[in-house]
Amino acid sequence: MKCMNDFIPVYKPLIDDEIYTAAIKALENGWLGMGSFVGRFEQSFAEYLNASNRKCIAVSSGTAALHLAMLIAGVGPGDEVITPSFNNIGDFQAILAAGATPVFCDICQDDLGIDCDKAESLITDRTKAVIALHYDGIPCQIDKVFDLAEKYSLRVIEDDCHALGTSINGKLAGSYGDIACFSFDPVKTITCIDGGMVVVNTQAELQKLHQYRLLGMSQPSSTLYTNSRAWKYDVCQIGFRYHMANLHASIGQSQLDRLDEIIENRRSYCRFYNEQLGNIEGLSTPKTDFEDVGPFMYYVIVKNGRREAFIDYLREKGIETGIHWRPGHQFSLFQQCKRSDMTVTEQIGKEILTLPTHSIMKKNDLVRITRAIREYFNA
Ligand SMILES: *Cc1c(COP(=O)(O)O)cnc(C)c1O
Repeated sequence: MKCMNDFIPVYKPLIDDEIYTAAIKALENGWLGMGSFVGRFEQSFAEYLNASNRKCIAVSSGTAALHLAMLIAGVGPGDEVITPSFNNIGDFQAILAAGATPVFCDICQDDLGIDCDKAESLITDRTKAVIALHYDGIPCQIDKVFDLAEKYSLRVIEDDCHALGTSINGKLAGSYGDIACFSFDPVKTITCIDGGMVVVNTQAELQKLHQYRLLGMSQPSSTLYTNSRAWKYDVCQIGFRYHMANLHASIGQSQLDRLDEIIENRRSYCRFYNEQLGNIEGLSTPKTDFEDVGPFMYYVIVKNGRREAFIDYLREKGIETGIHWRPGHQFSLFQQCKRSDMTVTEQIGKEILTLPTHSIMKKNDLVRITRAIREYFNA
């Protein structure tokens, strides 16, 4: 076993002076709850997306964003929402939280995104929405998803939690389309420690979301953004305690300010991995040059039933790996849920493996990882 200094975790949040400064700034401000830092973070996020017509609403987590996205989409009891089975648990729980039932769909082999032909076969008159996920920021066939949605009058909830900085047809993910959700949890491309963002198109949806995230109160966000509150308000709809706090927004802002650098770094690490691991027998690597991808992480497909032994080998070398994910349809809770044929998901679920990807990595560490892997495969 290597000593801890040599240990390379699969994720490592970017925590340095700037994050401390940001946290102290929010603490010194004294208004710790939702306030001016949140307003500014939303504004900066909209500017980053370069979509002045889109509305950005900061919330307490990516899962909260997804839950509210369901409500905005009109998803409720008795409804069905189609999601790739190869997705985060937060997506499935958001569907349940809205009182609806997840319907699990297979993915495509090349981009690991939803298989639209199989999705179409799952549509019933109870289907309200479809979730599209850009796994690892690699675009799924989103145009096909929009076509499907139009044909059957479905809402599209785009899970962009992996896709911050990904461009599709020259436009950033989240800057167009229907409802988009982002996460800033501890391991995401940028973090607020915990946080999320919902992005929608209309003023009416924005207003609803402002109330949903704040216990259903008609308390205007614009007042809170001046670090003060109104004492006259009404409660007119269901609501949750899903707002973002100043402290979290301030930390998120400090990371958003450096997003270009973070994405450029992550891209270069992924390219290095691709270069070093791209021609190994028994291993397959993402089919992208990451040019338009804001990569959240780097993954490989470990073939021939060797994944578990490979994980153990890397752990011995002080290299941590991750599995994203165990497919949703395999969990006990979802045994009864409808699903498509799952050939690709079943296979990928057994073979996928996440390699260490941080916002800033040492070249030495990357070399150590890729050398260890090449040795294992005698490449
Ligand atoms: C992280 C993540 C979520 C959930 O976000 P949290 O902030 O952890 O609640 C949902 N979907 C995907 C694809 C994610 O990666």
